[in-house]
Amino acid sequence: MKKRALGMALLLAVAAACTAGCAPAGEARTDYFIAAEYFPETRTLEADMTVRVCNTGEEAYDVLPFALYANAYREGAADKAVSDLYAPSAYYAGESYGGFTLLGGEGAAFSVGGTDENLLYARLSAPLFPGETAELDMTFRVTLAAVEHRLGAGKNTVNLSYFYPQLCARGETGWLEYACSPIGDPFVFPCADYTVELTLPAGWEAASAGEISSVTQNGKTTYHVVSENVRDCAFVLGKEKHTLTRTEGGVTVECCAFGSEPSEDALAVAAESLAWYGRTFGAYQKTRYVVVQTDLAEGGMEYSGMAMYASSLHREALMQAVAHETAHQWWYASVGSDQTAHAWMDEGLAEYSAALFFQACPQFGISGTDMVAGAESAYRAYFSVSAQLGGADTRMDRPLREYSGEYEYENIAYRKGMLLFDRLKSYLGDKRFFEGLSRYAGEYAGGIASPDALAGCFRGAPEAGPLIRSFTEGKCII
Ligand SMILES: [Zn+2]
Repeated sequence: MKKRALGMALLLAVAAACTAGCAPAGEARTDYFIAAEYFPETRTLEADMTVRVCNTGEEAYDVLPFALYANAYREGAADKAVSDLYAPSAYYAGESYGGFTLLGGEGAAFSVGGTDENLLYARLSAPLFPGETAELDMTFRVTLAAVEHRLGAGKNTVNLSYFYPQLCARGETGWLEYACSPIGDPFVFPCADYTVELTLPAGWEAASAGEISSVTQNGKTTYHVVSENVRDCAFVLGKEKHTLTRTEGGVTVECCAFGSEPSEDALAVAAESLAWYGRTFGAYQKTRYVVVQTDLAEGGMEYSGMAMYASSLHREALMQAVAHETAHQWWYASVGSDQTAHAWMDEGLAEYSAALFFQACPQFGISGTDMVAGAESAYRAYFSVSAQLGGADTRMDRPLREYSGEYEYENIAYRKGMLLFDRLKSYLGDKRFFEGLSRYAGEYAGGIASPDALAGCFRGAPEAGPLIRSFTEGKCII
């Protein structure tokens, strides 16, 4: 995700408040077949889903946990989807609620649980052994809140992401059954294959990644989407879709907007940053990349093969958001990381990748050097105020729930994360730095990498690990 820049006034306000195993490409993957229809009048999505869960691990499973992100928008949710900072602008019509309802299921005994109704457990009738596949059918309804967020109905567009029960990732000690967090991106999912048929009423259109086609019958349009080896399958819905397209190096880059013309700047940054990251870190592995302008309180959000950016962004923020989200095609969509435990890994790297891109491509009029310098001065201001208020917690490896708010998170995960990679580049030199990142992009494509795995990619540079740890453990002085 790309946050909107938070200013000094907010710094002071927040400071005051502070006082009070994914299968590598080519291996068998879990696949999802979803047939859904969206009803705008009731803001509901009715869906049938068949998921074939492939056990690519080394132990048998009795229970399969699926994340229920939609329930973070429900009334009474303890672990909300939207942070206090963004809630006033995101909930444009005042209080509104959504949620997930299971209407039926086969193949297992289903129950909603977790710490905040955030998980759907499928208890299997027999253990699922390594190499075996379990087929589960679910019928469910998702109600969207009137909210301009990752999953919600905005004033003009509808964002559908993480709208289906999504199999949790496996960590070293078991399933990663994370609760939702209003801070950061609490999404850690293994790569999977998707086939989705989404039906919309007359006049509505969809944007999505993957191979997409549509058929209109009896006034309704059904979109057919196939996306393979991806971490998610997301849509933006709206009326009067306009698309700008550019093809470079065998990749079609599209910029979509609903009810207005798409941004030429967004298309140019998307296409050229995708090409630059490809040359720098390793080729983009899909044939399409789509950036979609939509109603979104925050600046942008990344998905596999797609990014959303907020329609309200001004030109420079828009270009920065698109460059940042596009870098997530490497640092999230391809190389996964535990975004709940180590948010700096993908956010810091996406932010720094964007700075490197703008530095290499001055035609956009954004200085990468200034981005790094700006992050450093903002981080120091944050540190100074926090220290005066009783001590700044500068640890980077901590769960999202341990952040006091958006401002602390932005400074630790984004700004300090960016500075970590900038210092690493200074210490290692360009050659070893870029070789290490290319190795990281190649060796962990389709997987979920740990901080040690990242450090280990800077081979021949034993100082990389200690330098990274000095940042993540909060011991270095910036
Ligand atoms: Zn991001």
